[in-house]
Amino acid sequence: MDLYEFQGRALFDKHELPVQAGGVARTPQQAREIAERLGGQVVVKAQVKVGGRGKAGGVRLAGDADQAQAYAADILGMDIKGHTVEAVMLTVTADIAEEYYFSYLLDRAERTFRCIASVAGGIDIEQVAAQTPDRVASVAIDPAAGVDEAKAREIVAAARFPAEVADQVTGIAVKLWRAFVAEDATLVEVNPLARTTDGRVLCLDAKVTLDDNAGFRHPDHAELADRAAVDPLEQRAKEKDLNYVKLADGSVGIIGNGAGLVMSTLDVVAYAGERLDGGVRPANFLDIGGGANAAVMANGLEIVLSDPDVKSVFVNVFGGITACDEVANGIVQALDLLRDRGEAIAKPLVVRLDGNNAEAGRAILDGAGNPLVERVDTMDDAAKRAAALAALAGTGG
Ligand code: GDP
Ligand code: MN
Repeated sequence: MDLYEFQGRALFDKHELPVQAGGVARTPQQAREIAERLGGQVVVKAQVKVGGRGKAGGVRLAGDADQAQAYAADILGMDIKGHTVEAVMLTVTADIAEEYYFSYLLDRAERTFRCIASVAGGIDIEQVAAQTPDRVASVAIDPAAGVDEAKAREIVAAARFPAEVADQVTGIAVKLWRAFVAEDATLVEVNPLARTTDGRVLCLDAKVTLDDNAGFRHPDHAELADRAAVDPLEQRAKEKDLNYVKLADGSVGIIGNGAGLVMSTLDVVAYAGERLDGGVRPANFLDIGGGANAAVMANGLEIVLSDPDVKSVFVNVFGGITACDEVANGIVQALDLLRDRGEAIAKPLVVRLDGNNAEAGRAILDGAGNPLVERVDTMDDAAKRAAALAALAGTGG
């Protein structure tokens, strides 16, 4: 999960990194009030999860609260690389003498953590890295040892930070590492890390990515999630603990048990759909996991069926620990449950049951006699049938 700058700044503040006083506004009037509280001279910064805000006109230096309000009015609603600005952050303007770059990140390719640091920071750091790579230090960090003062000094030397800021940058490097570890981040980036004319070193930007897989260790991180930015179906699925991902341009809803089976179901449906008129594709990934009982199945069906792009649904279950008769009962009960909730399905369902107790499961489905449910007993044939039904619905047939 990527954070907004104001959220990253708050995490930096929590870990005692030097940040400027500030506040967040969603209206020009709020911006004025914050600017007044901060003394008038403020930076007004667009809050969007994309870099290059400075170059796009999303960072403005205001001389007083009037100007801050006017800049906020300009910036709010602005489109920056496809992101609409919903909020601005205002911070006390720093008098910048030099701009540096400092980050920690997870280097997946090298399977290590890494510090990237440069004294040539600011808005053109990508250019610096491309044209004068010797001005950018890259230091691998042993995850067990981390960044203590000695390691921090090694980084400061490698990046050739000037002597007059060496102690401050060393302190920041240690604290930033603590923040990186404590918050389970995969990226913390400070650009610019600035030296002010009065000799202080400040974090003037904060780009933070948190590791969602560590979310269970951080209940406080949940409130950082940007609900509006998440697909509403994915959000609902998450609330129901379902592993669901919406896919673009698909019309066959997919439900399966086990991530591996669902992945291969996507492949066979895509393959079957490719040869149909207009091309039919899977609409989602949904793994209902091992214990596919009626409630879980109902939740899964509800999510998939409420996707307006879905024209047919392929339920692909391989009975393992959970036997197929239980799953079949789950499907039948789920359909009843949805009908009772007033969400009776009107889209065709193709069900393939195989594995443990498959025969008993198929008999249960047949016995229920729901006209919208078709049983097809091999994965390939079921995929073809589900794709064909979606193509048919797509042509209004
Ligand atoms: P980004 O372009 O999205 O990375 O946004 P930044 O927050 O990094 O701001 C872009 C640029 O605005 C910085 O590189 C600075 O040059 C400038 N800037 C940001 N904050 C201040 C400040 O407090 N004082 C001054 N003088 N310039 C600032
Ligand atoms: Mn920046």
